[in-house]
Amino acid sequence: MIRIQEILDKVVESRPHADVALIQKAYVFSAAAHAGQTRLSGEPYLSHPLSVAFKLAELHMDEATICAGLLHDTVEDTSASIEDIDSQFGEAVADIVDGVTKISLMTFDSKEQAQAENIRKMILAMAEDLRVLVVKLADRLHNMSTLDYQKPHKQKLIAQETLDIYVPLANRLGLHRIKLELEDLSFKYLKPDIFNSISEWLDNNRQSGSEYMDRVRDMIQTMLQENGMSAQIKSRIKHCYSIYRKMMQQNLTLDQVHDIIAFRVIVDDVKQCYAILGLVHAIWKPVHGRFKDYISMPKANMYQSLHTTVIGPDAERIEIQIRTNEMDQLAENGLASHWQYKEGGKVKAKDVKQFTWLRELLDWQKMESDSHEFMRSLKYDLFKDEVYVFTPKGTVVELPEEASPVDFAYSIHTEVGNHCSGAKVNGKLVPLTTPLKNGDTVEIITDTNRHPSRDWLKFVKTAKARTRISHFIRTEERTRSISLGKEMLEKQGRRMGVNFAKALKEGLLEIVAEDFSLKTVEDLLSHVGYARLTPQKVLKKLLPKPEELPAPVEEVRQPEPAKKNKHAESISIKGVDDVLVRFAKCCNPLPGDPIVGFISRGRGVTVHTSDCVNVQNLEAERLIPVFWDGHEDKPYPARIRIISKNVVGGLSLVSTLLAEEKVNIDSGTFHSTVDGNSEIELTVEVRDVAHLYHTIDRLRSLPGMIDVMRFSSSSD
Ligand code: MN
Repeated sequence: MIRIQEILDKVVESRPHADVALIQKAYVFSAAAHAGQTRLSGEPYLSHPLSVAFKLAELHMDEATICAGLLHDTVEDTSASIEDIDSQFGEAVADIVDGVTKISLMTFDSKEQAQAENIRKMILAMAEDLRVLVVKLADRLHNMSTLDYQKPHKQKLIAQETLDIYVPLANRLGLHRIKLELEDLSFKYLKPDIFNSISEWLDNNRQSGSEYMDRVRDMIQTMLQENGMSAQIKSRIKHCYSIYRKMMQQNLTLDQVHDIIAFRVIVDDVKQCYAILGLVHAIWKPVHGRFKDYISMPKANMYQSLHTTVIGPDAERIEIQIRTNEMDQLAENGLASHWQYKEGGKVKAKDVKQFTWLRELLDWQKMESDSHEFMRSLKYDLFKDEVYVFTPKGTVVELPEEASPVDFAYSIHTEVGNHCSGAKVNGKLVPLTTPLKNGDTVEIITDTNRHPSRDWLKFVKTAKARTRISHFIRTEERTRSISLGKEMLEKQGRRMGVNFAKALKEGLLEIVAEDFSLKTVEDLLSHVGYARLTPQKVLKKLLPKPEELPAPVEEVRQPEPAKKNKHAESISIKGVDDVLVRFAKCCNPLPGDPIVGFISRGRGVTVHTSDCVNVQNLEAERLIPVFWDGHEDKPYPARIRIISKNVVGGLSLVSTLLAEEKVNIDSGTFHSTVDGNSEIELTVEVRDVAHLYHTIDRLRSLPGMIDVMRFSSSSD
């Protein structure tokens, strides 16, 4: 069991002015709170928080974090409260303990949905203060190292969770050593047979291995001396899990895995790193494709180093990493060694430049309502290696392996992604599916008429792209399904004698939606649009009982096609003369209506009202602004729908009024509706929009009127 003095010594090593008294006080508090408790191993419970705190001290964490490490289980497992901790140790310590407690309280059962939700909460908690996650990782590391005392099925569950979530998070925080330890511990419980055979094999070869390592180390040392340089050289045998991963990736047997020995050459400055790389490559042949320069292109977690694999003595492949002292510190202890602590201040993700990825994670976790999808993206984002590509202006953009130009576009801006229509990589047009490679310069071609397509989901790799594309598609599909549903219901309604538009207006659909257990009328329309409900099924609910059935529909007159083209001269188009102008028959624009022109191929310009439903489906780039230009006093077609109670002589009242207003009736239809009302649809001729609305207003004042409205065939 670690003693408090060891922790204090460790703290003072890296932080000579640390508030040792506060840590000591936290120790006393924790010891009292956990008094009498034991671990499954039989050890006093206190051994656990001490181990966690020691690990945090090794990571050079500040005293608030180390106190939180000592206290992290007191709120969950003892009678201590978060208020106690707040009053005795301050808000910073209390907040970290609170965050860790919240994460611990999450029940990680086998249900993926529940787990995804928990991970989500954890990310939120850790973004508030990254120290929460560091404590949680230290906690998990100690729990993993004492996992033997858990029941076998729990061991596997905890190990899998560690490998899935905590390992990538440790990696992203740059806590490399913790990552390696967690990996090997998880591996040991998840695949005990393979783990044992690898570690046995390593034991058997340890002797020859260490002789070999000494030999190589001497060779490097001599080479450096001959060139007037000196460096610290570390060597190690790779971890079991790294070896296993290599076997899997390259389909090798254990005896075929050669580069299990890694060397690290640590020097004072960057110049020496490259000089030594040159020397190493001069004496040993480098393995093609294995050189990586993370000094000029740091990893997302700020890791910097040169990596190369060479054919060393006895034709053994050896991996050599070359880096400065500072880079080595960062690689070993991660950002923890670099964080600037304001005394008692939180380390928020948004304050740390290196945590762009975490900020983005938070951004899209708000948009992604599907937990399953969130998990999928999270795992991908955390696990994949990254590639670095350039914008045309030379800005570096970091993306996961195999990311596509579409991922790149979304990383620039959602709008760029949503209108991405093509891409140039290194100046050449490429398909949007092309995987990007390190160093590519990527240029996105946008087009306001292009929209995300479902196919993109098959190849995008970033969570951001995936989320924004799904979001777009869902929104668009819903809008489309609602208007389609409405259209289907109106059409079928006319066949069945139900005035759907009216029922909708009168709010009858809300009750129907409820009948189908749907929350809103829009949901109902969308269900019809998606063909989850037939229009008949919905309309039946609106039908009256059999004895109330109305007389068959009575046709007054067939509507004639609207006259075209005779008003073209009343339209002006900016900067364009002599264009054939026609009025759209769907919306019949009247002088005074806001209008818009559509350039139809070879047929001049068609004028629609700005709010015409059809306009929304037209290609936006072919729409042009048009204006009413001092129109003459001549008739324009318009349509009116009149719904009234079936009063005697009603129709003649309408025609008299229209005559008074000098409104010609072009054509019309007459229906008796199911509810005993009558519905008249007229195509009339008016001077302009004011004339039409004045007439409609007067019609509304006639006896028995329920509604009078202008309508267009597109909403018909
Ligand atoms: Mn714990």
